Amino acid sequence: MLRGRRLLVLSGAGISTESGIPDYRSPERSQRSRRPMRYQQFVRSPEARRRYWVRSLVGWPRIDQAEPNLGHRALVHMQVKVDLDGIITQNVDGLHQRAGSRNVLELHGTLAVVRCLHCRVPEARSAFQRRLLELNPDFRPGRIELAPDGDADLPRAQEDGFRVPVCLRCRGLLKPDVVFFGENVPKDRLERAWKMLERAEALLVVGSSLTVYSGYRFVARASQQGKPVAIVNRGPTRGDADASVRIDGKLGEVLPALAEQIE
Ligand code: NAD
Repeated sequence: MLRGRRLLVLSGAGISTESGIPDYRSPERSQRSRRPMRYQQFVRSPEARRRYWVRSLVGWPRIDQAEPNLGHRALVHMQVKVDLDGIITQNVDGLHQRAGSRNVLELHGTLAVVRCLHCRVPEARSAFQRRLLELNPDFRPGRIELAPDGDADLPRAQEDGFRVPVCLRCRGLLKPDVVFFGENVPKDRLERAWKMLERAEALLVVGSSLTVYSGYRFVARASQQGKPVAIVNRGPTRGDADASVRIDGKLGEVLPALAEQIE
């Protein structure tokens, strides 16, 4: 199905689990209810921001040090071997780019940058991490579990007295440069994504439950346009009815095999 067609990949959190970054909706995770930070909550509540940054201080090094896995690398191979035009990723971890993939559109932004909500000036997350540590020299996280989105589960007591740095230029509020729940994908970015789908002759979805409409809309439109859709994912997805081919499997195994066969 994929051979000889100009291909677009849509990726989700499932491609990064084998790099040690958790997703939201793996079958074994479904018992655990976890509510991600919403945009309004972050903007309105100083406590919510403190809670976010204290967890992010702990969670960021794991994201920063994560390495691309066999699934990311197989997509790089496919880009060389077949007409793989680009990747729209819902991930915010930068692992496709670190693996060497070209034309990657980060639909939901990146954790590698924080941006001022007032003057829009960006700051590298690594520099911001240093400022977080400097402002909170006595912070001791203890044992923690990494949660999705570079977040981490910590006892509430850790948040008391935690200080959050402000924008270096205007002292405004800083937010990770990612699209939070309750926020829209910026218009120009979405238009770029639609153009990528327009050019494509087939869509390959990897590691996404497609529960979030932001990702599902590409599957819905591809299927409306009569373009074949293949899905590789462990467990069911919202797009299964739209798919021409559906493979239930581990991406670190299926994608290298696919890259091999597609030659
Ligand atoms: P999701 O958690 O809803 O779905 C991930 C899917 O991948 C699940 O169905 C799971 O069973 C499957 N999966 C997990 N590991 C797999 C593997 N090794 N092989 C094959 N399948 C595997 O993720 P989503 O659809 O991307 O939506 C989550 C949202 O949260 C996105 O919008 C994204 O921005 C954000 N997020 C990003 C990251 C990241 O950057 N790595 C991590 C968590 C969440």
